[in-house]
Amino acid sequence: MSTEQRTANQRTLQQRTLGIIGGMSWESTQSYYRLINEGIKSELGNLHSADLLIHSVDFAPIGTLQAQGAWDELGAMMVSSGKRLQAAGAQGLLIATNTMHKVMDEVQAATGLPIIHIADATAAAIKQQGLTKVALLGTEFTMTEDFYKQHLIDAGLQVLIPDTEARAEVHRIIYDELCQGQFLDSSRQYYCQVITDLAEQGAEGVILGCTEIGLLIKQADSPIPVFDTTAIHAAAAVDFLLGNANF
Ligand code: GLU
Repeated sequence: MSTEQRTANQRTLQQRTLGIIGGMSWESTQSYYRLINEGIKSELGNLHSADLLIHSVDFAPIGTLQAQGAWDELGAMMVSSGKRLQAAGAQGLLIATNTMHKVMDEVQAATGLPIIHIADATAAAIKQQGLTKVALLGTEFTMTEDFYKQHLIDAGLQVLIPDTEARAEVHRIIYDELCQGQFLDSSRQYYCQVITDLAEQGAEGVILGCTEIGLLIKQADSPIPVFDTTAIHAAAAVDFLLGNANF
C-alpha cells in the first residue's frame, strides 16, 4: 500500500457523518448530493464517497407555510428534521436551502450540532476573491431580511438587491419554475438582465442565493463573477466531512 493510499484510508476512517435537511427543492438536493460526493472523490480518490444522511422533506407544505409567514411552524419542522438526523448519527447538519436558514438558530439550539451556514461560507468565498460589493439574488426572504444579509454585512460586504418589481419576478421564477424543475430561456434572460442592472450599479459579483439558481445561470451567462451558494455550501460540507473545518 502506497503512503498516499494509506493517508487516504486514514482520512476515510476519520470522515464525519453529515446530516442534510433537503428536498427544498429536491432539484437542488440532487446537486448537493453530486457535488459533495465529487468533492470527496477528488480528495480521497477511487471508490470513496461521502458519509451522508439525507432527510428529504415534502416541499409543498413548506412553500405554503413560507408564503403564510408561519415561521414558528417551519422552525418546528426543521428542528424535527434535524433531530431525526441527529438520532440517525449525524455529527453536523447542513440545511440545503438559503431561505430556511431563517430558522437555523432554532435547529442549532435544539440539537446542539454544528451547522454549516450557507451565507458565512459564501461570504468567505467572496472575500477570498477580494470583492467587497456584491449583488444578491434569491427568494424575497433571502434578498430582504436580516437573517441572511446580516451575515454578509458582518463579513464586511456591501450587498445590492434588485428593485421591488424585479425581486417579485426573481422570487416567482424560483417557486413557479426552478423548484419545479423548469429552466426556461426567458427566465435565464430575465435573470441576466437583473444581474447586468446590478453590475451597472456597482456590483462586482453576484450571489446565486437560492440553491436552484445555479441550475439556470452559469458563469458564462453573467457579466460579473457568480457565487453559486449550492457549490460553495457543498465544498464547505466536504471540509466538514474531512475534518478540515473548524466546527
Ligand atoms: N432553495 C431555495 C433557497 O435556497 C428556495 C426554496 C426554499 O424556500 O427553501 O432559498
